[in-house]
Amino acid sequence: MRPIIPDYLAEALRDVEPDTSGEPAGYIPELAAANPERLGAAFAMIDGEVYGAGDIDTEFTIQSISKPFVYALALSDRGFDPVLAKVGVEPSGEAFNEISLESDTGRPLNPMINAGAITVHSLAGTEGLKPRERVERVLHGLSAFAGRRLKMDEAVCVSEMEHAHRNLAIAHMLRNHNVLTEDPRVIVDGYTRQCSVLVTTRDLAMMAATLANRGKNPLSGEQVVPEPVVRQVLSVMFSCGMYDAAGDWATQVGIPAKSGVAGGLIGALPGQIGMATFSPRLDGHGNSVRGVSLFERFSSDMGLHVMEVPAAARAVVRSHHVVGSGPNALRVLQLQGGIGFAGAERVVQEAMDIPPADVRVALDLTRVYSIDDVARRVLLEVARRLTLSGHEVYLVDPESVMPDPYPGDDGRVMLVDHVDHVDRADLHATFAGEGQGG
Ligand code: GLN
Repeated sequence: MRPIIPDYLAEALRDVEPDTSGEPAGYIPELAAANPERLGAAFAMIDGEVYGAGDIDTEFTIQSISKPFVYALALSDRGFDPVLAKVGVEPSGEAFNEISLESDTGRPLNPMINAGAITVHSLAGTEGLKPRERVERVLHGLSAFAGRRLKMDEAVCVSEMEHAHRNLAIAHMLRNHNVLTEDPRVIVDGYTRQCSVLVTTRDLAMMAATLANRGKNPLSGEQVVPEPVVRQVLSVMFSCGMYDAAGDWATQVGIPAKSGVAGGLIGALPGQIGMATFSPRLDGHGNSVRGVSLFERFSSDMGLHVMEVPAAARAVVRSHHVVGSGPNALRVLQLQGGIGFAGAERVVQEAMDIPPADVRVALDLTRVYSIDDVARRVLLEVARRLTLSGHEVYLVDPESVMPDPYPGDDGRVMLVDHVDHVDRADLHATFAGEGQGG
């Protein structure tokens, strides 16, 4: 069978190709000279599979797409508090290079605009690094996100430094407010190097997939940054990643995203996919014209808006029935799928309807593939309360999807690997909380 997704991507590229509106970034000669016809799109799944169409192996500079990743590095190198003390998380509704800071503190509004990103660059790596070591930390970190060793485009970097007056102005303002504590020129030099790291569309998709995969690179298996950092980064990408078009993007596309002036665009959908497109012509916000069209299409064709979630909770209770009769009757709550808070709440409601006379109750997890932490606690509390009101509780869990099945004080569950084994006392393992014998 031919794979389906590359054909889909090729068709999507064909549809946007005729749109030649917008202009490549003109503020430095190297970017203005980019071939504006280049076009590519890649998907990286969180198991490491990559699909692509068009120019997915052409290198270009990462530019602002470096911002969320270096923010992730700073948060993981320094911790949240020192970073949040210097850079906020509020959407600015302004252009990426606006010279604006919070009026009282001088803090940049968020890490996605240049003022925030320049500050964040200064916070990458442990405290006290020399500027060159910091740039090396950034390059190393971006490479870990991509899963291969990246390098810099020296020509773009030199050319950008020659035209960096606006970023220098921002950095001097930041220095004036003591948000930056080093020589502003040195920080802007490092930030500009960060922006001139060369990536392909394939790399960007993999970097996005690392965010979608809770910070673990799907190919190398390296945990690049901790999970709480990823949540912070994706949240900021969602609210601020597309600058002054962030609100339109959040409603129409609904995928945490980041654009760069060289024409790259990434999106990361948690738990599912990292996506990237490349097309150098930009709209008035500095976002790739064809890239935005492609993402709008991906989102609606594949239902990828983060606010569109499957109605999984109701389906958690697959059936609720009684096997046998009399004192040996067994009430079985057969559960299925992945259980989170709302799914566990359905189980609570079902459990409240169990008549006291039905002594034996089985929670059958045979068809459950995951139980998150809150669902685990709620289900074990169900087991504990059923024990307290005189029930015998069995947990049917052949694949051990329930970690540590200890109910709290006075609770008691008997673990079996099949509903039919409930009657065979020798096949039980009993887990009891304080106050209950095992
Ligand atoms: N290097 C560019 C700048 O700082 C990055 C901007 C962008 O990609 N939006 O101006």
